[in-house]
Amino acid sequence: MNDIAPPVLPGTPLIDSHCHLDTRVWEDDAGVDAVVARAHAAGVSHMIAIGSGYGFTSGHRAHAVAARHAAVHAAVGLHPHDAAEFTDERMADLIALGTPETPILALGEMGLDYHYDYAPRDQQRLAFRAQLALARELGLPVIIHDRESGGETLDVLDEMRAWDTGVLFHCYTGDVAYMQAITARGGLISIPGIVTFKNGDTMREVAAKAPIDRILIETDSPFLTPIPFRGRKNEPAYVGYVAAKIAEVRGTTPEAIAEVAAENTRRYFRF
Ligand SMILES: [Zn+2]
Ligand SMILES: [Zn+2]
Repeated sequence: MNDIAPPVLPGTPLIDSHCHLDTRVWEDDAGVDAVVARAHAAGVSHMIAIGSGYGFTSGHRAHAVAARHAAVHAAVGLHPHDAAEFTDERMADLIALGTPETPILALGEMGLDYHYDYAPRDQQRLAFRAQLALARELGLPVIIHDRESGGETLDVLDEMRAWDTGVLFHCYTGDVAYMQAITARGGLISIPGIVTFKNGDTMREVAAKAPIDRILIETDSPFLTPIPFRGRKNEPAYVGYVAAKIAEVRGTTPEAIAEVAAENTRRYFRF
C-alpha cells in the first residue's frame, strides 16, 4: 500500500501541478482525502486536481475534491481519449461548477493523443478546438496533453491564438527543440517523474535547458511513479523527487527548484 513518503525537502512547500485525485483511481472520497493528507505530510502545500482523463464526470469529481480541501485547486476539461463524448452542453456544465470559493483555475487537460488514438482524430481535433475557443472566451489558461501529434498541437494552438491566455504542456515528453518552440511562444512545460527514470535522458536534457521561469513539476498521479517508488500507484506526496532530480541536472538545490516551480505554478494558475 502507499505509505507516507518521507518529506524530501523539509520546510519547503511543494506544488504538484498535475494530479488525478479521482475516485475512479482512489476508490472513494475517503481514499482521495487520504492521498491529500499524505501529500501534506510530505510537504506538498498545493495540488492542481485535473478534472479530465476519466470522462466528462472527472471535472465534477475534481471540483468536489477542491471544494473539500483548500490546498486543492480544480481544472476541468475533456481528455483527447474521451473526445468522442464531447458536447458543448456538457462542457458548459463543467464551467458552471466554478464558484467564488472554488473557482475553475484552468481548462484541461485537452489536446491530441495520436499514440493511443482512443478517439477518432477528427473528434480529438474538434474537442480540442472547442475547448481552446472556450478558454479564450473565459480568459482561462489551458493544460495540454500532447502525444505524438507530430507538431499538429502547436499548429492548432497557433491558429486558435491560445498563447495569449496561457498554454502549459503537462507531462512534457518531447525533445529540447520542441520545448524551445513552446517557450518561444510564451508557453510552459510541466516535468513529470520520467525525469527520474533510467531511460529519461531526453527529459533530463530538457530539464537542464528549459528556461527556469517556464518549468512546473508534476506527478500525473496515479501514473509515472518516480524512482524510488516505481511499482506503486503515484501520488502527489512523491513530487519532491521530481524537484530533486531537476536540481541535480541543473546543479542547484531541490529547495531552489521547488520554490521557483511553486512560484511559476501560482503565476500560471493565478492563486
Ligand atoms: Zn495527460
Ligand atoms: Zn493527466
